[in-house]
Formats: sequence, C-alpha cells, structure tokens
Amino acid sequence: MEEVKVSSNFIKKIIIDDLESGKHEKIITRFPPEPNGYIHIGHAKAIIINFDLAEEFGGKTNLRFDDTNPVKEDVEYVESIMNDIKWLGYEWDSLHYASDYFEEMYNRAMILVKKGLAYVDDSTPEKISEERGTLTKTGIENEYRKRSIEDNVDLFTKMKNGEYEDGSRVLRAKIDMGSPNINMRDPVIYRIAHKTHHQTGDKWCIYPMYDFAHPLEDAIEGITHSLCTLEFEDHRPIYDWFVENCDMESVPRQIEFARLEMTNTVMSKRKLKLMVDEGVVDGWDDPRLPTISGLRRRGYTPEAIKDFARAVGVSKSNSLIDSMMLEHFVREDLKLKVPRTMAVIDPLKVTITNYDEIELLEAENNQENEEMGTRMIPFSNEIYIEKEDFIEEPPKKWKRLYPGAEVRLKHAYFIKCNEVIKDENGEIIELKCTYDPMTKSGSGFKERKPNGTIHWVEAKKAVPAEFRLYGSIIDEDGELNKESLVVTHGFVEDNMKDSKPIDKYQFFRHGYFAVDNKDTKEGQLVFNRIVSLKSSYRVK
Ligand code: ATP
Ligand code: MG
Repeated sequence: MEEVKVSSNFIKKIIIDDLESGKHEKIITRFPPEPNGYIHIGHAKAIIINFDLAEEFGGKTNLRFDDTNPVKEDVEYVESIMNDIKWLGYEWDSLHYASDYFEEMYNRAMILVKKGLAYVDDSTPEKISEERGTLTKTGIENEYRKRSIEDNVDLFTKMKNGEYEDGSRVLRAKIDMGSPNINMRDPVIYRIAHKTHHQTGDKWCIYPMYDFAHPLEDAIEGITHSLCTLEFEDHRPIYDWFVENCDMESVPRQIEFARLEMTNTVMSKRKLKLMVDEGVVDGWDDPRLPTISGLRRRGYTPEAIKDFARAVGVSKSNSLIDSMMLEHFVREDLKLKVPRTMAVIDPLKVTITNYDEIELLEAENNQENEEMGTRMIPFSNEIYIEKEDFIEEPPKKWKRLYPGAEVRLKHAYFIKCNEVIKDENGEIIELKCTYDPMTKSGSGFKERKPNGTIHWVEAKKAVPAEFRLYGSIIDEDGELNKESLVVTHGFVEDNMKDSKPIDKYQFFRHGYFAVDNKDTKEGQLVFNRIVSLKSSYRVK
C-alpha cells in the first residue's frame, strides 16, 4: 500500500488527543462538496487531508453531497466529483446526500420551533439583512420574533406544505440579535424554493440553509472531526449551537484550516462556471484550468497532486502558493516514469544528400531509468528538425545548426549544413546537409566536437501531430491571459502512432506532454504540454 505522508499538524494533534482520551474510538471525517460545479485543486487538498487523516488513524471518510440548493446543482456535477475522487485514488466509506436527511432536518427544525428557539419571519430578505446589522451596528428584533410557538408550528408546517410563495417567509433561529458575531443574529435556517431537486424531485419546497444543515449532516453521520476552511471560523458558534439545541446525539467538532490559494489561476467553482458558460475555455476540463478534470486532461498524475498537497501541508493561516510548485511536483513524478522521445513542433525539412538508405537506430527510452529499455527509431535521407534550431547568421555561442556548421542529431549522426533553400518570399523551406557515417551515436567517435545536439524526426514515417502549449489562464495583472494557448503542428516519432489518450512522454527539450483525451482522433494526435522541462522553482 502507498505510504501516507501527512506532515505533522495541529489537526493530527487534536485527533491523537481525542483518541488517547477515549473521546472517540474511531475517527470519521467527510468530504462535503456542493455539486454546483467541477472540483478543483483546492478541493483536492481538502480530499487529501480528510482521507489521509482517516487512513492514518484507522478511521473512515464519507463522501457527502451537500445538495441543499437545488437552483445551482446538477447530477452532472455529482458524477464528475465521484469520478475525480476515485481518480485521485480514494474510496469513500459511505456515500450520502444531504438531501437524504431533509425529513430529519425538518423534524429537528421543528424541535427548535417547539422549544421557542425558531420563528417564521414574513419580512423581505432585504429587511432581514438590514435588521441583522453590521459589525458596527447591532441587530434589531422585529415583530415576528414575538410570534407564539403555536403560530410558528402552524406557519412552518404550512411553509413545508407549499402554501406560500418563494421568498415570502423564512424560518429563523431565535438566538441573539445583539451578538457581536453576526452569524448568531437569528440566522435564516429554512427558505421557500419551489424548485425541482436533482435527488428529491418535487417532494420539498423548503430548503435548509448551509449553517443549519451542515452541523446536522455531520452529527447524523457521526462525523468526529469536521474539517473546513478558515472562513467558517466565525460560524463555529452557530455550528455548535445547532448541534446542541437540535438535541443531536453525536457531537462533531469543527476544525478550520487554510484554503489552498494559488497564483495565476482561478479557484472558485462560481468563477470557473462563468468561464465555462461564456466559452472562454473549452469546458470544465480545459487543460488550463485547475479543475481535477482539467489537470487530468493536461496530463497531471494523482501522485503529483497528492505530493503537492502534502508538501503544502495543513496550516491555520492563509498563504498564496506559487503555481510553479505544482509544476515542480509533476516533473518529479514523471521524470523516471515516462519515455523520453522526440517531437518536432515547428518543422523544417532537412535532406541528407549523401545517404539513401533507411536504417533503424537504437535509442534509450529514459537515460535516468535503464529499466525502461530502448526503442528503434528510423533514420533516412529526409528528416525534420525544429525551425528554431537553424539560423543563417548565428549569434555568439549559438549551439545549434547554421551554414557550414556540424551538429549531432540526437541518437544518430553528425550532420553538416551545406545549402539553404528558400521559397519566393525568402522563407527557408529546406536545408541540404551531409552526414558522417563515422559519427554514429554510441560509436565513441571523438575526433570532432559537434556544435550542439538537436532533436529530429525521420520524415517518411513521421506521425503528424498537433501540439498545444499552455500559459497560465490569469496573467500577472490578474486579467484573463489572451495568450494562454498556442497551437503548433509538427511530427512525432512513428513508434508513437498508437498512443492512447493521456499517454505521457517527455519530448526532448520541449517538456512533458500528454495525449489529449478529447480531440485526439484516428490519424490526428493532439498533445497537451503538461509542463516545460525547466523551472527556477526550488523546494526548500
Ligand atoms: P468554491 O468556492 O470553489 O465553490 P466551496 O468551498 O464553496 O468552493 P464546496 O463544494 O462547498 O466548495 O467545498 C467542499 C469542501 O472543499 C469544503 O470542505 C471546502 O472547505 C473545501 N475547499 C473548497 N475550496 C478549497 C480550497 N481552495 N482549499 C482547501 N479546501 C477547499
Ligand atoms: Mg460553496
């Protein structure tokens, strides 16, 4: 089994204490996404924390869809979220929907009503919000707060029975309009919405609010440690209040940790959905997005994402993580795992004038991992090299090809450029070169030093391919980066022609690439660049 490396953190300390003191025999955590979009790398952090902790302490983790808002939710999201969690390599212990508990939540809300701890308010949402005040203005108690328990029982029952219109009334907890914590100023716990729900259909027309629903869901499932992000810290008193006053048997503990925030990207389902809906990107799995499906399509591995999240760790203070850190972990993961092959992404034809055979040359698949063996690559008198590897008038220190210069073709021979052929516009369209049979790779030839090593692809058998090179979706000024996608067309080695979606390679000098799982068709390979080879990023 994979070794779980959760860095020592404050949540672990709490869990250890709770197990040692006998407060809990077994811990239960949960991942509670709202199915209102595809999940992203920030959610991955929450998934990894919850599942890793449960695994480390022999506990379990539930997956629970927090589906209390039928307006924004959809089964498409439910399915994508399950798929993404499985792809990350986790199995939930049991699957729940908050909507499974609607009946119980309603009954618990009725307990509050009967205790005189909840009332039906007929005010408009604007009025309620205004009366709740601000940080500097205390809240105001209105006339509905004085309603009798009998009236509230009757009105809440009628709300449930569909006798009122959307927005006409709400159920509020009766706590303290003077509390310094605004969350405690009689929060709304039920609202009316005559909407078809993706799980419960038209059974319900009142829906519970997050602050009420979440602690109850946790308590019903016997969650011991309910991990959430820091912005819920101010909601902890209300979480505890509902657990206590709704007479929940099991008492979960809410613990907050810092959200994952990353540079040059978008990390909110709402904003991501906007980009998808407006067609700014190619769906939720656009390789530029930090969604799990986007990262997967881009060629990221579950291991890279987990290593990244574990390295970021769990903390109590928010910080902005450099996206280069995520790139670092995918390079590290792929380095020894994927074959190193050659692709020419912007081709220039080269004819080798003193050669007219076709031969197969042996090439190592991964110089740093001998176990990956070797492959045979064809060599003939027609090859492609990278346009940028040739220049007519070389600057100082130019370590590639120019007229009269000799370079090594990776895994093959030295070639020397003798003639440059141009079209009517003066554009270079072909080079005529000669090769030296003495210089075959591996022959130990030492008499001359080439002016650098360049990559190439044999032309007659070359497989055409499209290459998609990505920049960050958000630029340094926080604006949408208009150059976040560059598409080129070129060739890959013929032994890659049967590549399957998401197969990964390191292309000599260009970086790591994965076969696109959406646009690759028979005879048309599309590669997404996962990440380039080098970065200035260093892990401390
Ligand atoms: P978004 O704003 O992207 O919709 P959310 O917090 O509203 O995020 P939920 O579906 O409610 O999304 O979240 C499910 C779980 O994932 C919650 O426990 C939440 O705290 C956690 N989570 C969401 N975003 C992040 C993040 N950036 N870093 C860490 N955890 C996150
Ligand atoms: Mg949300």
